[in-house]
Amino acid sequence: MTERKRVDGKAAGGGVWIFCELESGVPHGVVPELIGKGRELADKSAASLSVVVFGHGLEAVGDGLARYPIDAVILADDPALDPYRPEPYAAVLVDLIAARRPDVVLAGATAVGREFMPRAAARIETGLTADCVDLDISPEGLLVQTCPSFGGNVMANIVCSVRRPQMVTVRHKVMRPAAADRMRGAAIECFDPAPESLRARTRRLEWLPETDGSGPHLADADIVVAGGRGMGGPEGFRLLERLARRLGGVVAATRPAVDEGWAPPTRQVGQTGRTVRPKLYFAFGISGAVHHLVGMSSSGRIAAVNKDPSAPIFSVADWGVAADAFEVIPAMLKELGE
Ligand SMILES: Cc1cc2nc3c(=O)[nH]c(=O)nc-3n(C[C@H](O)[C@H](O)[C@H](O)COP(=O)(O)OP(=O)(O)OC[C@H]3O[C@@H](n4cnc5c(N)ncnc54)[C@H](O)[C@@H]3O)c2cc1C
Repeated sequence: MTERKRVDGKAAGGGVWIFCELESGVPHGVVPELIGKGRELADKSAASLSVVVFGHGLEAVGDGLARYPIDAVILADDPALDPYRPEPYAAVLVDLIAARRPDVVLAGATAVGREFMPRAAARIETGLTADCVDLDISPEGLLVQTCPSFGGNVMANIVCSVRRPQMVTVRHKVMRPAAADRMRGAAIECFDPAPESLRARTRRLEWLPETDGSGPHLADADIVVAGGRGMGGPEGFRLLERLARRLGGVVAATRPAVDEGWAPPTRQVGQTGRTVRPKLYFAFGISGAVHHLVGMSSSGRIAAVNKDPSAPIFSVADWGVAADAFEVIPAMLKELGE
């Protein structure tokens, strides 16, 4: 049976921690976003901000992270921590928490964060709120953890009032990223993991990056051309592909469009899909249900085309065109010189 570690609810004081996930040896895109929010939380509660990294050969990663607005980088450097495996990551995080008692631990709601953070939280018998879209500090000094609940119809504010640390996974692309600065120099500390914490019953055989073979990652795109049920079928999505190619963007879809097979599941935006924050988001034939809005409303600019002038999508759009997408898109393609 997995050993549980009791960490006294009152015995915190180790500040705010960010878990830094590495993707092919470099910090995942969610990490600067977590640092931006973590800095805000740490300042509000007069606490320190540390970034925790697990892996092997972490010197350059540590130096890079030290340029962010943080107070310390804590490196757990061991060959057994590269590549990622949930058992040692959870065990080493539990050891670190027991040794240094952070008040708050944030990680990205990525496949990695979603897998090992709850294991660590369960082992130390504290709470974890998954998939948060906002965080704040209450007047009582508690972490207010906001996440969509009840099918996305309400935003729940959750606090973990007794146990410590307060643990959270945060969606990628919902928070403003912190910038790295050449001049900064956070302290770099090392943590030697206990050999028994590095044991694992699994080994990684192969790494298959997530791709649907249709171009760049949705999360990385500056321009997203999204279509909904109003695009009528695969033909409509081919039109969106042509527009996306012209604009240097990536096609996305609502859940009904994915369910119909007009776009692959990796392209679904919304509560049960991806969160995106492109510079420009086009919404064609999308009504603007809350389940969709939660995945795209923090985009830089939103342009919506819908036949129905009362469609809710217009309430979040910077530009709205009440018209037929099958007239607007060909006109745009013509304008773009296709
Ligand atoms: C638990 C849960 C999770 C969910 N998760 C997600 C999610 O992750 N992502 C998601 O998207 N949805 C999700 N949904 C579904 C969501 O509630 C909506 O049903 C969905 O977003 C609606 O998709 P849509 O806008 O494509 O379709 P519709 O709501 O049917 O809207 C189609 C729109 O197209 C317009 N239109 C029709 N023809 C044209 C035309 N020729 N030109 C221009 N406009 C036209 C119509 O006026 C209409 O506004 C979830 C639902 C639940 C219950």
